[in-house]
Amino acid sequence: MPDPNGFLRYDRRLPARRPVPVRISDWREVYPPAGEALIREQATRCMDCGIPFCHDGCPLGNRIPDWNDLVRTGGWDAAVESLHATNNFPEFTGRLCPAPCEAACVLGIGGGQPVTIKQVEVEIADAAVTRGGLEPRPAATPTGRSVAVVGSGPAGLAAAQQLARAGHAVTVYERDDAIGGLLRYGIPDFKLEKQHIDLRLAQLEAEGVRFRTGVNVGVDVTAEQLREAHDAVLLACGALQGRDTPETPGRQLRGVHQAMTHLVAANRVVAAAGEGRPALAVLSDGTPIDAAGKHVVIIGGGDTAADCLGVAHRQGAAGVHQLDLYPEPPHSRDAERDPWPTWPWILRNYPAHEEGGDRVFAAAVQEFVDDGTGQVRSVRIAEVTVEKRDGRRIVTALPGSERELPADLVLLAIGFEGTEEQPLLAQFGVTRNGRGAIDARPDWQTDADGVFVAGDMHRGASLIVWAIAEGRAVAAAIHTYLGGVGELPAPVDPARQPLAAR
Ligand SMILES: Cc1cc2nc3c(=O)[nH]c(=O)nc-3n(C[C@H](O)[C@H](O)[C@H](O)COP(=O)(O)OP(=O)(O)OC[C@H]3O[C@@H](n4cnc5c(N)ncnc54)[C@H](O)[C@@H]3O)c2cc1C
Ligand code: SF4
Repeated sequence: MPDPNGFLRYDRRLPARRPVPVRISDWREVYPPAGEALIREQATRCMDCGIPFCHDGCPLGNRIPDWNDLVRTGGWDAAVESLHATNNFPEFTGRLCPAPCEAACVLGIGGGQPVTIKQVEVEIADAAVTRGGLEPRPAATPTGRSVAVVGSGPAGLAAAQQLARAGHAVTVYERDDAIGGLLRYGIPDFKLEKQHIDLRLAQLEAEGVRFRTGVNVGVDVTAEQLREAHDAVLLACGALQGRDTPETPGRQLRGVHQAMTHLVAANRVVAAAGEGRPALAVLSDGTPIDAAGKHVVIIGGGDTAADCLGVAHRQGAAGVHQLDLYPEPPHSRDAERDPWPTWPWILRNYPAHEEGGDRVFAAAVQEFVDDGTGQVRSVRIAEVTVEKRDGRRIVTALPGSERELPADLVLLAIGFEGTEEQPLLAQFGVTRNGRGAIDARPDWQTDADGVFVAGDMHRGASLIVWAIAEGRAVAAAIHTYLGGVGELPAPVDPARQPLAAR
């Protein structure tokens, strides 16, 4: 029985982040562990309401009130078990999820203070490491069927673990030199230190999952070869086609890059330094993978832009501007527009924002300005309004509002246009839809029989929690397709969308 008065006794509190001057001098995670006393206090705030709307907010259907109460009473082993019953990788979501569950928490109604669900989750996940919660759970009996998983992000890994535990022989093919998808080289260490991935991979390997890195499916191995070698194929290749702005004058200048070009390279430098090996220090156009001493302009307002901001400060940028096309969002939920328990449009301040830099809202680049040598020296921006007409976005610059910002390095973080066009698609006989994603039938198969799809490749660029949820669900579908005994849990179907008012 939970404490019905806990939320009256305790306010919402998060652990203090490491001080800015300390944390921008290294690449370690921003948040230190919360400590048992704080986390048990915060778990006590959960009143286990009759209808736990947080369940609907979380695509995984995490049993949030159950493990909150277990943490409150010190039942850590049971909490570890309960959390892993619905989430293969709570150490990733506990660190990185934007927590739609908290937006749906009953304590958040009317501007109240939701339970710190995500923080409780990460503390349980970390407790699992020392409490045997990461012990491998290999299948008792092999089924003799085999599955190829293409792509090793959270969707591919969640599916691989579910299928291996059900007795199928799983091989994960990854074109990168390391497993993890965006968790490995997309997301910087200050949000997710990579030992968390490595610990989980050791568990998967002990459960029988085979990893093959450096294999670009469609190039190094054909779809036909893969289909011959396996009974089913899962495509989990992500949505890594970066949106560009080719029509903006000066786009071709040196120093103007896709954000991911800089971010991935920078994360590789950190990984190499951690392993004591040399790393590539320049991009193919000769630009150093370093913002040291530079004026940086980041274009975009989401996760990728915030990660670029944190990287730029750690590399020693002279100054950073972050441009957002849209006006500054409200600081609290607009209940007319986004009623509880839906995900509200509000100003999101990431830890990277308290480390410095200027955010400029309702602004768009008119030109990347040449320094006379083919290198960008500034960006000319204008204040803009944005409206939707006939489903199209119309951006209008306000006359006389133009000004220049100094810029030696410009990073385009303006979103993704779906999964990349690559040989694998035609070889498997699947095509991108209007959003650049790959459609799935209700049983998660693509247009090609026996070829399944999940994660960002199916949804378009999304979140880790959705990737894991789809990975679990597609594993259930593959298990059924292979004639496996019993059913695996399927938290979502291919049509499932986040909670919405309309
Ligand atoms: C910079 C950045 C920061 C983010 N931060 C957050 C965050 O804080 N919280 C959050 O919830 N979400 C975040 N996201 C989104 C999240 O990372 C993705 O939604 C999630 O990783 C999608 O998982 P996935 O498994 O579908 O694909 P991915 O993680 O993209 O993995 C796909 C993998 O497939 C591989 N692949 C592609 N083609 C082939 C091929 N032909 N052969 C072999 N391998 C192939 C790729 O190399 C890649 O490793 C962020 C995204 C970015 C870009
Ligand atoms: S995975 Fe995300 S939505 Fe689900 S409980 Fe954790 S923080 Fe909340």
